Amino acid sequence: MLKVNEIFFSIQGESSYAGLPCIFVRLTYCNLRCTYCDTAYAFYEGTDYTIEEIITKIKEYKCNLVEITGGEPLFQKESLELMKSLCDEGFEVMLETGGSLPIKDVDKRVKIIMDLKCPSSNMMKKNNYENINYIKPTDEIKFVIGTREDYEWTKEIISKYELTKKCTVLLSVVFGQLEPVTLVNWILEDKLNVRFQLQLHKYIWHPETKGV
Ligand code: SF4
Repeated sequence: MLKVNEIFFSIQGESSYAGLPCIFVRLTYCNLRCTYCDTAYAFYEGTDYTIEEIITKIKEYKCNLVEITGGEPLFQKESLELMKSLCDEGFEVMLETGGSLPIKDVDKRVKIIMDLKCPSSNMMKKNNYENINYIKPTDEIKFVIGTREDYEWTKEIISKYELTKKCTVLLSVVFGQLEPVTLVNWILEDKLNVRFQLQLHKYIWHPETKGV
């Protein structure tokens, strides 16, 4: 059984898959409490489903791209089995994880989008740097930046762990806290080999809208 907050069909708003239609499975619970969290409603609310029930629901949408998100999806151990089953069924599977829990047992067919939490999130101490050893070239590491301090810290971490040699590195802003143009200018000034991204869904729908 997995506790599921919501299953919905929308446009992928983040990562290099931004813009593609995608089915989202939002699992309940999170072990972190980021200052800018926009999915606090997923901390406790949810309904219990079996993996078979989730897959049946997913198949109704007739879309091959599925993202497992949260909350923190890896908080529920059964999420590993869910992702494996979805891969076995032929779905293209993405995982959005906060970067504090181990990714080493995630099915290798899954594309992982892993955060490393910046200082202004107040969750930086929870980053599990061991995870970097298990990142595949097809995965992506994401930094959500709210301040210049976050940006300087991000540059240090990229350099220390040679992240741009390992996978695509995504930089985005804390929505409503740092202007996108400010971050873009910093990236261009430093000629960083990263990919800037906007949370597309927040520009298409109202930023507070759930299930998009
Ligand atoms: S990891 Fe994600 S869901 Fe959890 S508190 Fe941080 S932003 Fe919210």
